[in-house]
Amino acid sequence: MVKIHNFGAGPAKLPEEVYEIIKKELTNYENSGISLLETSHRSGTYLKLNTEIQAVVRRLLNVPDNYKILFLSGGGQGEFAAVPLNLISRTGTADYVVTGAWSAKAAKEAKKYGKVNVVTPHTERYEGIPDQSTWKLDPNASYVHICTNETIHGVPLVADMSSNFMSKKVDVSKFGVIYGGAQKNIGTSGVALVIVREDLLNHALPICPSILDWTVNVKADSILNTPPMFAVLQWIESKGGLEKMAELATKKSSLVYNIIEESNGFYYAPVAKNARSKMNIPFRIGSAKGDDALEKEFLKGAEALGLIQLKGHR
Ligand code: PMP
Repeated sequence: MVKIHNFGAGPAKLPEEVYEIIKKELTNYENSGISLLETSHRSGTYLKLNTEIQAVVRRLLNVPDNYKILFLSGGGQGEFAAVPLNLISRTGTADYVVTGAWSAKAAKEAKKYGKVNVVTPHTERYEGIPDQSTWKLDPNASYVHICTNETIHGVPLVADMSSNFMSKKVDVSKFGVIYGGAQKNIGTSGVALVIVREDLLNHALPICPSILDWTVNVKADSILNTPPMFAVLQWIESKGGLEKMAELATKKSSLVYNIIEESNGFYYAPVAKNARSKMNIPFRIGSAKGDDALEKEFLKGAEALGLIQLKGHR
């Protein structure tokens, strides 16, 4: 059998060393005689782990003391609803920087709970970030939502970091809230990591479901309900933290971008160079718009070589 290389953007490949740890934890967690998956989230065993992983996140991202760290159910999209439900009551409006399909979805979800101002000019295809001089920010917005690591000043900045969480150092103090689904870089699907500044708590709309209410979840120390159990955070720390992760991401993505650049246009990367991701590398084959037949042949050939989940993101 050929060796399988998983290129899935998320759920993404886990490190081989993490498989080994999971294997042990799956059958006999810390010599308790039972699996972590069978362990009560109210038990001392889980409470210890809960405290430990919060501490790891605090160390890795250098999270200041006035921020709470939450592990919540519902993944990235759960937070698309939680962000407006917890914050939009501050002024009734929110700014959304729409630079791709995910931030467009986040804005659409927020419209259910208040007035949403899309600050970026409308584009048919998302192949770069519109220059900041074209953004129409509202100084009265409850918050500005972005899906990138760029920073803006003024009203609280809320960032969806689902696709590059823990891949490099960020200055947490520049953000009001950071959130992300875990399945790409830090764990398994279904869980969101949320880092929220304390002064942004206690603003939830009365209709906010408790499970999405950050204040309720802070009081419950992230175990209001039964949480998903696996994360790779300790592994990240053991490998040298986020500086090391950033170095690896640059190395890995350069390997692919270099092949694209050196292919004389055979492979084509549509995203502007200054907006390119080190996590997800969209590319077409044969031409800028892609050649269907060639792309099908490429995917078939790749799969035969064990290179799987390369098919483009919708
Ligand atoms: N935001 C971004 C930037 C994402 O890449 C994704 C997942 N691809 C999501 C949100 C949604 O995450 P989830 O599937 O956990 O709801």
